[in-house]
Amino acid sequence: MRRRIGIMFALAACAALATAIAIVAVAGDKASPERNINVQDIPETTVKDLIGKAKDASKKAYAPYSKFSVGAAVLTDSGDVFTGCNVENASYGLTICAERNAVFQMVAQAKRKIKMVVIYTPPAKPSAPCGACRQVVNEFGPDALILSVCDGPDVLRKKLSDLLPDAFGPANLK
Ligand SMILES: [Zn+2]
Repeated sequence: MRRRIGIMFALAACAALATAIAIVAVAGDKASPERNINVQDIPETTVKDLIGKAKDASKKAYAPYSKFSVGAAVLTDSGDVFTGCNVENASYGLTICAERNAVFQMVAQAKRKIKMVVIYTPPAKPSAPCGACRQVVNEFGPDALILSVCDGPDVLRKKLSDLLPDAFGPANLK
């Protein structure tokens, strides 16, 4: 009898532990910044269009050294879209990323406010923008949403301010 009670107690303890783990998992899920960001103010069709344009841009990448073809699509507050691909150089150091290429295309057309940046990379894991690109995006879109997609099912959704907290920006020079 005592043994049966012991087994029942053990089962109850396991159930309680499983419940606790489930609660922590849900809490962790809610706390994840990737899940907290919604793109509800940006229509799904627009996001799909941006993903398609980022993928198309990656096909134009000049990446003979890294073989890492990246495409980026920048959405402005006025609804315009600018794309860019990475352009490598034999000097390596003069290589420019797809994100900065797209942002510079935007600036060249006299647009100044970034609402969202979509980045496409071919591997099965999405890639966040490099530090230099985060800084450049911050100049024109400190509140921009960054969406990284790839050939796998994973996506990375972050606010730029989460990727570059306490950023140095135009306000620091006033
Ligand atoms: Zn970069």
